[in-house]
Amino acid sequence: MVSKVTVKAPSSTANLGPGFDVFGLAIDAFYDTVTLTKTKSRITIVTKDNIPTNPENNTAGLVVKNMKKKFKIKDGVEIRIEKGVPAGFGMGSSAASAAATVVAFDKLFRLKLDDNALVEFAGSGEKASAGTIHYDNVAASVLGGFVIVKTNPLDVIRIDPPINLRMCVAVPKIDVPKKKTKVSRGVIPKNVKLVDSISNLSNAAAIVAGFMKKDSEMIGNSIKDVIVEPARQHMIPGFAKVKENAIKAGALGVTISGAGPSVIAFSKSSADLKKIGLAMSRGFTSANTKCQTIICKPSKGAIENRK
Ligand code: ADP
Repeated sequence: MVSKVTVKAPSSTANLGPGFDVFGLAIDAFYDTVTLTKTKSRITIVTKDNIPTNPENNTAGLVVKNMKKKFKIKDGVEIRIEKGVPAGFGMGSSAASAAATVVAFDKLFRLKLDDNALVEFAGSGEKASAGTIHYDNVAASVLGGFVIVKTNPLDVIRIDPPINLRMCVAVPKIDVPKKKTKVSRGVIPKNVKLVDSISNLSNAAAIVAGFMKKDSEMIGNSIKDVIVEPARQHMIPGFAKVKENAIKAGALGVTISGAGPSVIAFSKSSADLKKIGLAMSRGFTSANTKCQTIICKPSKGAIENRK
């Protein structure tokens, strides 16, 4: 009988410019590792990291609570979380814990849930961090690759990225507000102009076409958002310079990763990714901000760690 399962889930970038709340991409920059162990009755969280340990306030805890209830499971569960994805930087940290947990829970209790059900439960955990349920990060982190999230009813479409797609992520060393996602959702305009919506729609459509055609240039060139990025960029010190520098250094497209403050540049394996990373660092330095840069590629999603 299985009494313990460990799953590792990757970081992810949401939106990819014009695909706000719809697009997600799993990236191999960081991983969370979650071990679920059956216990007598309660849900407990064990972690060395600075995240909530009350199950209601932790995305992994909330996933376990919701799944236990739905499947009428009486056992308790110990959730051991090792954070690799920095929390609150727009790299899908809370989502990675939720994604690893959902896959581990499915295996531990032999539920054999389909992809949409896994994503739905993982998304329900996001309420603990963002205050609202959103599926873009969890869908990418659970399933891997590029995802398109359709809602009402939830239906996730997954596409394998081109093998030469590369990203460079710059994670600025700044203090992020506790409810960052909520704050950065608050600055988004409630109404948008039709011309702006047309611009974003055309670029979003081209991004999907780029993934279908395995054309990294088409993807990168279409990472253009005239609605959310202009409203949020003031929250990131030096954003305009980081973006300008990365483009000059050869990046195809640059945008805010999720709700930020990380900035992500898209490129191809043939490009000089180190140069792009340095250019982004210099952009942050111009605003007296240090950053960590990571060159990465798409990840295949959450996988069981068999030791
Ligand atoms: P991101 O998901 O991009 O890291 P969020 O702002 O959505 O950013 O989530 C980070 C917030 O979620 C933090 O304030 C953190 O306390 C909370 N949180 C709850 N559970 C977790 C978890 N398991 N891992 C990381 N952060 C979590």
